[in-house]
Amino acid sequence: MFNKHLNLMIFICSMHLSINLKNNNSYQSQFLVWNIGQGQWVTYIKPSHCVHFDVGGEWLPPTKKLTSFCGGKTNIIALSHIDKDHIRFSSKVKTLFLNTCFMEQDFSVLNIGPKKQRQINKLKPHCQSNINDLNMSSKKKLKQNLLKTLNKPTSEYSPKKANSWNQVFLHNGFLFPGDSTKKSTSKWTSKNKALISSKTNWAMAIHHGSHTNISQAYWKQLNPNMSLFVSSRKNRYGHPHKKWTQSAKKHHINYLRTEDWGHIQVLL
Ligand SMILES: [Zn+2]
Repeated sequence: MFNKHLNLMIFICSMHLSINLKNNNSYQSQFLVWNIGQGQWVTYIKPSHCVHFDVGGEWLPPTKKLTSFCGGKTNIIALSHIDKDHIRFSSKVKTLFLNTCFMEQDFSVLNIGPKKQRQINKLKPHCQSNINDLNMSSKKKLKQNLLKTLNKPTSEYSPKKANSWNQVFLHNGFLFPGDSTKKSTSKWTSKNKALISSKTNWAMAIHHGSHTNISQAYWKQLNPNMSLFVSSRKNRYGHPHKKWTQSAKKHHINYLRTEDWGHIQVLL
């Protein structure tokens, strides 16, 4: 299913077989797309630190596995936006790992109102050390590979619609577009065409494969050798939508659903 010349190995483990996940000592770095129902929690695992791209979903990843991969390391949380299916377990992360930090993100620039502000306050991490304590090369690499395309809210941002503003990350070949709207996707795509087409080997499906967020400008930039992962639940939410799967087919992009395959491990 996957193009062989991508330098990757993907191990797919069902919930029941999660014990077979390769442990953290086997590879220098890897991405783990957790099967958490509809939502997003993807962990980038390095010997010194873990970066969690959102920490949401309908249920938690297996906590034993989380701690075996990321326990005793600096854990960094990079949030796309403040919606339940992306932030639900942020308090749990703080109890699992002693050292949890936020990626440099400034949510205070959003006029988010008291309810969301309380949510963010609850999320406040307890950085024992800091992302700044990572050694210089790790820190430099982390920043070099981090793309913040929408780090300031645009005029279309509305506090009542969490999806109206998303931070988009590209980290070591993995694109995290969050639940970006069609309009904002077209905007950040046009600003980063070359980067998206040449540097994206893997990406999460935007908004779990919803039909309302399909931007043809974005799909056109995706390289047919890349792979999409869909973290959704068909029976409950109807994602990925038929229009989304038709778009994937039209643009010859392979995709895997966590609902079918369980946790998906991308070994680098
Ligand atoms: Zn979502």
